[in-house]
Amino acid sequence: MHTKFQPAGFSSAIETLMSDTRPRTEDHFAEIPLDFRVVQEAVKRNHHRTPFLLLDPDLIRTKLQRFRAAMPKVYLYYAVKANSHPAVLGLMAAEHIGFEIASIGELDALLELGVPAHEIHYNNPIKSRDYLEYAARAGVRWYIVDGVDELRKVIGVKRDAKLCLRIETQNLGSDWPLTGKFGATLTETSDIIDEARKLRADLAGVAFHVGSQCRNLENWRIGIENAKLAFSMMRKRGLEPRLLNIGGGYPVRYLKPIPSIERIGATVTSAVADLSPDVRVMAEPGRFLVSDCAWLVSRVIGTATRRGTRWVYLDTGVYHGLMESIEGLEYAMRTERSGAEIPCTLAGPTCDSFDVVARDKMLPQDLREGDYVYFPNAGAYTLGYSTEFNGFPRPDTVVMQHA
Ligand SMILES: *Cc1c(COP(=O)(O)O)cnc(C)c1O
Repeated sequence: MHTKFQPAGFSSAIETLMSDTRPRTEDHFAEIPLDFRVVQEAVKRNHHRTPFLLLDPDLIRTKLQRFRAAMPKVYLYYAVKANSHPAVLGLMAAEHIGFEIASIGELDALLELGVPAHEIHYNNPIKSRDYLEYAARAGVRWYIVDGVDELRKVIGVKRDAKLCLRIETQNLGSDWPLTGKFGATLTETSDIIDEARKLRADLAGVAFHVGSQCRNLENWRIGIENAKLAFSMMRKRGLEPRLLNIGGGYPVRYLKPIPSIERIGATVTSAVADLSPDVRVMAEPGRFLVSDCAWLVSRVIGTATRRGTRWVYLDTGVYHGLMESIEGLEYAMRTERSGAEIPCTLAGPTCDSFDVVARDKMLPQDLREGDYVYFPNAGAYTLGYSTEFNGFPRPDTVVMQHA
C-alpha cells in the first residue's frame, strides 16, 4: 500500500539518496518489556474491572533514557496524542522534556499540570482560529505551518509567532504513512518563504514527520536532507532558520522486526552533523516512549463456533482500545491456557461487524468465558482512540506503584 506513493518535489532533488529505499528491518536490541508474571500478579491483586491498561512508569523512564542516549543532542518533545493520561504527562514533565500538541484539549491537560507554555509546540499543521487565539493567549510560541493560508492565519492571530515549516517527506515503510495529508512540496515551500518575507513573519524552522511506526531508516535521512534544502532556500532569501524538527515515528516491537532506536539515532546524528551550530534539533517521539510501558488487560465475555470457525469475544476491541488493529497492527497476545492452538477470530464486544481485532489468530482451544487475555505494548494509541460506543466503557488506567 505504501509503495504506491511517488515522492515529488523535495525528494526528486535528492534522487541519489533514493537509490536504496527498501524498507530495512533490523532488530538487534534487547527490549525490557513489563514482565508477564508481574502483570499477572498485579491483575490478581487488583481485581480491577476489565478492560484496563496496566502501566509501569519506570518503563517510560527506561525508554526516555534509551532515546536520549541514542540521540544525545536532540531535544525531546513528547507527542501528547500517543497517551495523554495525566500520570504519563506528569512523568514527562518531571523528566523535563517538552511537548508537541494538536489541540487546546491537549494544551489544557498540560497547563493543568503546570507545564510552562513555552515548552509546548503547537504542531498540528492546520489549526482553527479559535484554538490559535486560545493557544496564543496561553503563551504558546511555536506553531507549525505547511501552507500560505495557514501562515497568514497564524500571523493574523499572533504577529510574533515562531513558525516552523512542515515539509513533505517520504513515508515509505511506515505502518501509518501520513504523506498527502500534510507537508509542503518544494514549490509550495518557495511560496511560503516568500509570503513569510512579505509579512515579516519569523519563519524559523523546518519540520517533517516520517509517519508512525516507521521501519525504514532512510526516511529520517531523506527528511533531514530535504530540510537542509529548505534551510538553504530560507537563508538565501534572508531568513534565519534555527530549528530542525525531525518529528516522530520511532517504532516499537510488536510482531514485525524494527530498526533499533540506536541505529535510527546513528543515522540522525550523522545526517545532522553538518548543520549550522545555531540550529537546534528536536524530535517528537510518541509511540516509542509509551507503547511498551503498558499491557491492555481484557477478558473473554463469550465464545462461539460459527461455520466451523472459533470466535472469541473480548470486553475490549476496535472501539475500546484496539483501534490500530483495523489498520493492520498485529498485537502480540498472552493467555493463561495451555491447550493446543487453533485459528480463532478475535472480536470486540460491540454489535458492529467492524469490531474484529484479528482473524486466524492462533489461540488455545480451551480459552473460555472469564479468561484473561493480555496485550503487551498497548501504551500508545489505545486510550486516546477508545470510545464509549454501544455503551461499553473505555479502558481504565491502573498505574503500577513501585516501593
Ligand atoms: C503523531 C505525531 C507524532 C508522534 O508520532 P509517533 O509515531 O507516535 O512517534 C509526532 N509529531 C507529529 C507532528 C505527530 O502528528
